[in-house]
Amino acid sequence: MALRRALSAAGGRWAQGLCSAARRDTVFAVSSGHGKCGVAVIRASGPGCREALQSLTGRPEPPAPRVLALRRIRDPATAEPLDRGLVAWFPGPHSFTGEDCCELHVHGGPAVVSGVLRALGRLPGLRPAEPGEFARRAFHNGKLDLTAVEGLGDLIQAETEAQRRQALRQMEGELGRLYQRWSETLTQALAHLEAYIDFSEDDNVEEEVLSRGEGGRGPGRASGVCPPHHHHPSPIVPPLSPPFPPPPAVAAAVRALEREVGAHLRDGRRGELLRGGVRVVIAGPPNVGKSSLLNLLAQRPAAIVSPVAGTTRDVVELSLNVGGYPVVLSDTAGLRAAADPVEQEGVSRARERLQQADLVLAVLDAGAVPAEPGALGEALGAVVPPAAPQPRVLVLNKVDLVRGGAGALRDACARAGLPPAAPLSCKTGEGLAGLVELLRRQLERLCGDPLAGSPSLTQTRHGQHLRACRAALARYGRAAGADLALAAEELRLARRHLGRITGHVGAEDVLDIIFRDFCVGK
Ligand code: GDP
Repeated sequence: MALRRALSAAGGRWAQGLCSAARRDTVFAVSSGHGKCGVAVIRASGPGCREALQSLTGRPEPPAPRVLALRRIRDPATAEPLDRGLVAWFPGPHSFTGEDCCELHVHGGPAVVSGVLRALGRLPGLRPAEPGEFARRAFHNGKLDLTAVEGLGDLIQAETEAQRRQALRQMEGELGRLYQRWSETLTQALAHLEAYIDFSEDDNVEEEVLSRGEGGRGPGRASGVCPPHHHHPSPIVPPLSPPFPPPPAVAAAVRALEREVGAHLRDGRRGELLRGGVRVVIAGPPNVGKSSLLNLLAQRPAAIVSPVAGTTRDVVELSLNVGGYPVVLSDTAGLRAAADPVEQEGVSRARERLQQADLVLAVLDAGAVPAEPGALGEALGAVVPPAAPQPRVLVLNKVDLVRGGAGALRDACARAGLPPAAPLSCKTGEGLAGLVELLRRQLERLCGDPLAGSPSLTQTRHGQHLRACRAALARYGRAAGADLALAAEELRLARRHLGRITGHVGAEDVLDIIFRDFCVGK
């Protein structure tokens, strides 16, 4: 109030602008998606919610907080009934956005929904919400940190079970809490370090205080706490001149944190893979049944299947759900020395795609390779070089043509120490369940169990800041022996990077990007 009075007194457009920004609009949107449906949920957030409820229901008081109440909903301008529906009142701060919120659960017919939206739009101070505006308000009011907002966005987008589990964990704040804990570790380390710097600059420090403790090389060595700030009554000795080693407890904490961030980064690909889908590439010589395999897995003819070798010239790609894991599956041109320039281009795109793959399904014609370890290893090596980093699954297709089945082939694979092999017939479907199970296990290894262990980082953005944080921690180690002020600055930098992930410090530049991806009403 004092601020507003002061600003009004100051007058001028600038102050007016600030005041109106402080008096926030009330925004509303359909939150339940679009199209005809049984029930549509219209949500509003902001200081005008109570009045909006009064106007639309014609009752002086809103229903009890967080309890659905059946109400006739009418157009306040004409008093014409628009619908009968359930209304809910969420007074701030105990609401999704932290502001006063309300919800109208009306019938999902387009005329009902547009009638209610029109009525809301005519109320003073109310306007339609922009994409992500509810989540943005929740963030600004401290209801969600940025990782939770991203988790919420992922939860809305999640198409498979594993994606949902990961997103839910993140939305509930697990990832944010992990980064917050690291940030607090750094705050504590900084407090110790700063106290130590102040202390060492204190002219009245006497040698004995500094050499106390078993190591005798610095204060707080044994306990790991910062030295006391009182002066000792003993005779004055010359001031200690830096540099001298910082409290070992700080160094140990920073090293431990650096290791933890490193480990988190190392399995960081898991979260990103799960979020964006695991890129699985089908590769192999021409005519072994690669397109047939894509179709079989997709249960629809997405790729052209033909007995003419070299038909798939471009990369065919589709999204699949394999055992709850999201997969982006691509079929590539058969790998061979092609004469036709278009096919050559296809082969080079296939090789490119293979390099970007997270997992390779190497397909061979079971009838064309001898059931002998050397020959199998060579045929597989021609598809994916043995040194390539990607995990691979060997698919031995066309087993329907192999007399005696695939037992001998599988044995040969096992003896050769080749990757797991699945005998398959795209023609009869034999072996499909085995292949899917093999694939699922590989996906589980790549993505991890989204409910086990510490939460995974899910966004490239997180990875960038974490790498920068880790680099600053490493620089701390080097700087600490020479210049404590510089070392402290590295800790501040590391903490700032963590803060930017959660949005606790200067994340203005990423906010627009993050909230833009939300649909209207979320
Ligand atoms: P691609 O060139 O590797 O993509 O192979 P395609 O999927 O186009 O298949 C090549 C030929 O092999 C086609 O005539 C398919 O019908 C045939 N084919 C694919 N899978 C099988 C299988 O499991 N058994 C038999 N007998 N034929 C198959």
